[in-house]
Amino acid sequence: MSGVTSNESSDPAATLRRHGLQVTAQRLAVLRAVSERPHATADDVFDMARAGIGAISRQAVYDALAAFTDRGLLRRIQPAGSPARYEPRTEDNHHHLICRACNRMMDVACALGGAPCLEPSDAAGFEIEEAEVIYWGRCPECVAAGRGEGAGEQ
Ligand SMILES: [Zn+2]
Ligand SMILES: [Zn+2]
Repeated sequence: MSGVTSNESSDPAATLRRHGLQVTAQRLAVLRAVSERPHATADDVFDMARAGIGAISRQAVYDALAAFTDRGLLRRIQPAGSPARYEPRTEDNHHHLICRACNRMMDVACALGGAPCLEPSDAAGFEIEEAEVIYWGRCPECVAAGRGEGAGEQ
């Protein structure tokens, strides 16, 4: 998890300005929520932002997340069959582990060296910048508790 916000200043208002975005209390609350809890869903961000500043609509959260993702402040991860998650953009091409039983998501370093750590067997002439890998399985707690056994075979 080290270096998650290393490429951004710790001042969220300055971060917004640097990316050409107007600074509003709602945008600051959304940015703060994702920094505090990387891999949050839009619903998680909504709950955290509302707890932080009170008045914020779900639509305002969606709009802010979309604007941040477009401008490269946030990375959006879309696991198959589950809501999108958001994290601060790190440019480190890290990958993710997801537990099928409890939906916990964790960062994991590149499989091999730096980006793109995985070379396709045939790049079809593409200039490859990034490889996004999700490793699906069960976290140690779920394995120990016997949760989600056999989920991988379904
Ligand atoms: Zn789990
Ligand atoms: Zn991550």
